[in-house]
Amino acid sequence: MRRRAFLALPAALRAAPDPLVLGAYSSPKTFWERGGRLDEYGINAIFTGHRSIDEALLGRARKEGSRVFAEFPAWNGRDWLKQPENAASWPIDETGQRSPAQTWFQGICPTNEAFLRSRLAELEQLVTTRRVDGVWLDYLHWHAQFEDPRPGLPETCFNASCVERFRRETGVKVAGDAPRDWAADILKRRQTAWREWRCSVVVDFARRCRAVLAKHAPGMLLGNYQCAWRDDEHAGARRRVLGLDLPAMARVFDVLSPMVYHGRSGQPVGWVRRNVEWLSGRLRREAVKIWPIVQAHQAPAAEFEQAMRGGLAGRASGVMMFTLAAVAEDPEKMAVLQKLYRGLRA
Ligand SMILES: [Zn+2]
Repeated sequence: MRRRAFLALPAALRAAPDPLVLGAYSSPKTFWERGGRLDEYGINAIFTGHRSIDEALLGRARKEGSRVFAEFPAWNGRDWLKQPENAASWPIDETGQRSPAQTWFQGICPTNEAFLRSRLAELEQLVTTRRVDGVWLDYLHWHAQFEDPRPGLPETCFNASCVERFRRETGVKVAGDAPRDWAADILKRRQTAWREWRCSVVVDFARRCRAVLAKHAPGMLLGNYQCAWRDDEHAGARRRVLGLDLPAMARVFDVLSPMVYHGRSGQPVGWVRRNVEWLSGRLRREAVKIWPIVQAHQAPAAEFEQAMRGGLAGRASGVMMFTLAAVAEDPEKMAVLQKLYRGLRA
């Protein structure tokens, strides 16, 4: 009887699924300058660097029906490492040397507590001064470059901070007295424990960010821009080198946003759909939402449309493009975006 009663409920009284997140990444400045209105294009979510968010942006975006999410760099060490007093934060490679920048990206030693605390303090400052709808952690991985057809995948970090924490948290013994010796021993005998522990370091920092939100801004979503590689790409480097364990991360974040930048990764546009479908299957038992980010620049309008549709494959419940500014500069892409998003909202 109860089941029949439930089925008899009018459709409007049953739990409605959340509306699709029809997102756009980057400040809407160029888009607005060209005369665009977010609601006229069906956009309902803006994602942009946290430093570009001010009250004027928040006010106008909301007036045009958009939520606003702040991108927040987690482990980008470029500016921090320019200060000589932060030298202990350099990621150290298996030869005992500072691991250099990989093209434009410079990572960090992810157990350097001074660096981590500075990031958490900036996050606290952000969520207590800007009424954003959520924060998306970016660059949350061990030092490496994955946005490149030939990724830079160094082995790091073997400084005293990391090796001591590895020993303390796992109970594993590591032979030697210096980074080079520790690295040799770890890579020869302790790889499984080492790579698993590295994943836990990433998740631990995400939890600390989650605690900042819980304390100061409990309604905000916590999302993550992350490497979009499948397990079988680059010999498992997403977990092995970047330290990203998908199920573990799915339990900390509300939303995962794989960066399926096909062109920048030297992949055909079909890679977007393939990887979003793969991720949907990989995380089918997790509650985490999937809102991919796809490449809009350096791609013809038809390819941009294919990338956006691929981004909405599988169980993705949202999508966004990198960047809205690139779309705003191309009337053809503006037309594609408007048709796609308005069609999805209809
Ligand atoms: Zn380290």
